[in-house]
Amino acid sequence: MKRIFSLGIGLCLLLASCAPPPGETVFQTSTIVALLAGVYDGDTSCGDLLEHGNFGIGTFDRLDGEMIILDGDVYQIKADGKVYQPDLSMKTPFATVCLFEADTHIPLNPGSDYEAIDNLLNTSAPNQNLFYAIKITGEFKQMKTRRVPGQQKPYPPLKEVTRNQPEFEMDNVSGTIVGFRCPAYVKGINVLGCHLHFISDDRTRGGHILSFEIADGSCEVDVLDHYFLKLPAGTQEFAETDLSKDRSPDLEDVEKR
Ligand SMILES: [Zn+2]
Repeated sequence: MKRIFSLGIGLCLLLASCAPPPGETVFQTSTIVALLAGVYDGDTSCGDLLEHGNFGIGTFDRLDGEMIILDGDVYQIKADGKVYQPDLSMKTPFATVCLFEADTHIPLNPGSDYEAIDNLLNTSAPNQNLFYAIKITGEFKQMKTRRVPGQQKPYPPLKEVTRNQPEFEMDNVSGTIVGFRCPAYVKGINVLGCHLHFISDDRTRGGHILSFEIADGSCEVDVLDHYFLKLPAGTQEFAETDLSKDRSPDLEDVEKR
């Protein structure tokens, strides 16, 4: 009995030492190459996502809008331009989350645009090969976003969906940018470099960011050195889609700012 108990404790310690530390881990569902190929059926619920973080971005079942998770609240920014708080049973085909704990602050110059902040993050990143969660709060002189519309089967590739994407411009809006900067070696798995979403302070507007200019704000960065990838094993589409093709040109089209 004593031996079984000791074995049990040993196993618990072993599992604890293998478990990724929640504050240092990027948790991701599915892969960007699957999304590009049109695997839009959700596999992981928003409730499950919240068990792995309180901060993140993604999309929803059938590609129905842009996801932003901030302070543990999930927002769905749909193509109709409205912001919803979905039921936590709603599923996602692609999302990236973390438990956000700022490690560093980066000062931002008023007038900085997406490119300037991208360059700043690239040069400020002490280790280019780690993941960075990025939170920028402030006033934005200009903010241009898109919101992908929900799709019906047979799903078209993402490149075709974003070709006709609704885009929205906002001027003088205060809010928060939520996103990640991923290292180059995750090609095919996640978006390389910065992938950012926005939500206004009044939680009425937002989306996937195409361009912005900051009037006044600050940037917090959480450096993450663990990566947990959950694959949509329960999705027929994922099992049947050919994911061997290099879809990087599609990703450039989809992410173009
Ligand atoms: Zn996005």
